[in-house]
Amino acid sequence: MVRGELLYEGKAKRVYQTERDDVLLVSYKDDATAFNGQKRGTIVGKGAINNQLSNAFFRQLEASGVPTHWLEAVGERETLVRRLTMLPIEVVVRNVAAGSLASRLGLEEGGRFPRPVVELYYKRDDLGDPLINDDHALVLGLATAEELAAVKQMALQVNEVLQGLLERAGMLLVDFKLEFGRTVDGQLVLGDEISPDTCRFWDLATGERLDKDRFRRDLGRVEEAYQEVFRRIQEVV
Ligand code: ADP
Ligand code: UDP
Repeated sequence: MVRGELLYEGKAKRVYQTERDDVLLVSYKDDATAFNGQKRGTIVGKGAINNQLSNAFFRQLEASGVPTHWLEAVGERETLVRRLTMLPIEVVVRNVAAGSLASRLGLEEGGRFPRPVVELYYKRDDLGDPLINDDHALVLGLATAEELAAVKQMALQVNEVLQGLLERAGMLLVDFKLEFGRTVDGQLVLGDEISPDTCRFWDLATGERLDKDRFRRDLGRVEEAYQEVFRRIQEVV
């Protein structure tokens, strides 16, 4: 598939047109940002690792019956996906208290929840991606009630599949962010990526952070953490 015009350059990926109207090529970058773009850096090798990890996760999800945009890996850092019209919503699923939820609710990081917590955020960089509820999403026209119900159900299904996979790889799936969109023929499917940039993975035995928190919080050994996740996931897929 020929790489066509650059359609969009985001913080972590470039999205290109292809010779097919309904197919896009996604190219993963080594650039890293945090705190709504205020902190910037490079994680050497991240693009290739996130692309291949995300592909491994999406393949498992497809095999488990979750509809996704994933089509085909075409290179170390490039993948073909179905073109989606994205919902401007980030869906976060949490199994353990961490990050913004721990701060917002005054919880210590590390406490496991008795059931998963699903949150919605309005994907608006200029507003800092605010936390919203279903009513906000409906009055803003971000999604229909049916779409909200469907994305939450898919998000919980993704959680089940990923938790099992991560556990086999010796990691705890603390939380993660998903994005959904509609295909050209109207199907609501999972899009974007699943990687250490968009999830929290903690080592099951030691609690060591194996994700982007190493970059966000200046914990050091950032590249090594991404490589370690990649190595462990390759062993279980
Ligand atoms: P951001 O926009 O947050 O900086 P990225 O650098 O990851 O993020 O850019 C990728 C962009 O592509 C995101 O805006 C994401 O919503 C969008 N996207 C992901 N998958 C698809 C898809 N299948 N079709 C169209 N857009 C997509
Ligand atoms: N997340 C993401 N993109 C965002 C915000 C959050 O991928 O724009 C992921 C993040 O990596 C974590 C989960 O969503 O796995 C929950 O993030 P949180 O709300 O705790 O925000 P943070 O404190 O990480 O900014």
